[in-house]
Amino acid sequence: MTENSKIAVFPGSFNPFTIGHANIVERGLKLFDHIIIAVGYNEHKPGGMDEALKRAASIASLYEDNEHVSVRSFKGLTVNFCRQAGASAILRGLRSSSDFDYEKNMADVNEEISGIPTLFLPCKPELSFVSSSMIRELEHNGYDVSKYIASERNCGKKL
Ligand code: ADP
Repeated sequence: MTENSKIAVFPGSFNPFTIGHANIVERGLKLFDHIIIAVGYNEHKPGGMDEALKRAASIASLYEDNEHVSVRSFKGLTVNFCRQAGASAILRGLRSSSDFDYEKNMADVNEEISGIPTLFLPCKPELSFVSSSMIRELEHNGYDVSKYIASERNCGKKL
């Protein structure tokens, strides 16, 4: 990363990090020099930080060969993390119009309080059903969800 690098923060819970998330990172790299995948946590939730650190470490292992991606965990406001990281934009994915309603409101608040814009990327149509909550629910009921969770096999070490 140089002083002039265009950096975006891709924030989320990533519980777990899915092939939909990986696709947003892959496509975001066509627009930014560097993407920081930022695993947010709530310090008031038991295990919040530990879980986020574990999740960040496992996502980082997917991108260890890619110097254009880094992975961090953070608490508090996304825009504060963006400022500390020197990011010029927040990156978010959109699966549906209901995602848009929620995301637009959050983007407006973030821009109002920080001046940092949010860039939305629509998800690939074939990934619009993939969500972390769907994966957790299927997994809880014994279904093999490995094809939806980003891994070295389906996300590619070098993007
Ligand atoms: P949060 O808890 O902040 O909603 P998530 O981890 O659920 O975070 O999602 C992080 C970001 O990834 C959000 O912008 C979400 O819309 C996007 N996203 C989630 N699933 C997909 C998908 N299948 N395709 C594209 N973007 C997605």
